[in-house]
Amino acid sequence: MNATPDWYTKGRGHVWLPYTQMKTVRPALPVVSAEGVRLRLADGRELVDGISSWWATVHGYRHPHIEAAVRGQLETLPHVMLGGLAHEQAYVLARRLAGLLPGDLDHVFFSDSGSVAVEVAMKMAAQFWLNRGQRRVKFLCFRGGYHGDTFATMSVCDPDEGMHSLFKGALLEQVVVDLPRDAAQEAALGDVLAQHRGELAGIVVEPLVQGAGGMVFHDPFTLQALRRLADEHDLLLIFDEIFVGLGRLGDAMFACQIAGVQPDIVTLSKALTGGTLPLAATIASARIHDGFLSDDPLHALMHGPTYMGNALGCAAANASLDLFEREPRLAQAQAIGKALERMLAPLRDLPGVKDVRTRGAIGVVQLDRAAPADRLSAGCIERGVWLRPFRDILYTTPPLTIGEEDLGRIGSAMTAAIRDWSAGLGK
Ligand SMILES: *Cc1c(COP(=O)(O)O)cnc(C)c1O
Repeated sequence: MNATPDWYTKGRGHVWLPYTQMKTVRPALPVVSAEGVRLRLADGRELVDGISSWWATVHGYRHPHIEAAVRGQLETLPHVMLGGLAHEQAYVLARRLAGLLPGDLDHVFFSDSGSVAVEVAMKMAAQFWLNRGQRRVKFLCFRGGYHGDTFATMSVCDPDEGMHSLFKGALLEQVVVDLPRDAAQEAALGDVLAQHRGELAGIVVEPLVQGAGGMVFHDPFTLQALRRLADEHDLLLIFDEIFVGLGRLGDAMFACQIAGVQPDIVTLSKALTGGTLPLAATIASARIHDGFLSDDPLHALMHGPTYMGNALGCAAANASLDLFEREPRLAQAQAIGKALERMLAPLRDLPGVKDVRTRGAIGVVQLDRAAPADRLSAGCIERGVWLRPFRDILYTTPPLTIGEEDLGRIGSAMTAAIRDWSAGLGK
């Protein structure tokens, strides 16, 4: 088989890649098809996808149930605008998401990507107060946080560590602090909030796991503290569950359920369509939604992405939710976590390894320096596994449907790649 297909050679100069220095970029791996947990490359090799295409492909590739739903939808109504027109898949999906999320998180605004879902959440929160005559448009956000790549979402990412630090000064000004991890820190944060009285619309946080910031975990305590502080200071609490939501953590569908905390607004995307189509949702509580009800047309939420509620995407999402209902995804995520913990634990004591941690179907090996990404990635590819290290970590977020043998392959590849690298240190 031809290792480098014609479309790749001819198109390569025209595709601008994500987060990539195009001057020094290594050739990307041409993928010709995918099935289950495997990517098939143009040169005939197969790789087990250890990161589920940026955390999205929770049921594996080409799940027949999702594929049938999307195909059926394609034959009847691939897309129709959501302004003034309605279609079944969006209305069913909104009702189902409202049913799955706790409490009165009942009002779903659709969009087409995670960043936009967070932008909408921020806009909702700010306008909620504007509609009451209060100009409160800033947010409390956290070091290590990541909420997207658009300008408003960059402003609530970690301002120093994050990949958006370059744009400092050009972004909306926010209040950035460390996550509170004990009672003393909760009290100190209370003082900060008091200083910013009347300025802040809400708090934006990735609950339980800060993903793109380096897969850093925190306890439910932190989220409970944020809920207490939000109540005390009359702030809206936004949970960005774009990474952790929809089963990744194993103990429940959503992090807010695991923490026993009711946020005011939740954002979902990534795994929403089972990794097949771009779709996102911003879900608000009744109080937030009702804050827009008015005789003044300007009190309406002024947002409307062209492709919001895309019918193919909603059909895929409904099929994905069917699979969560019918198949034991949460138990699978828990089992993956246990296996990863067992496989990765021995790396803890190696030189150069700072930490090994797992939560749900997330396994992380953190190094004591920037990860040699190309080297670790190549080490895993040699062993038939696709992983993409970043910052100081090599991590896996496999499809929740992965079998024991393939998961073992990921564990072995990570172990071997880290051992090789660690053994070369100081030589
Ligand atoms: C990926 C991610 C986003 C951004 O989603 P995109 O679809 O890439 O715009 C926002 N928040 C969190 C927590 C994410 O993991």
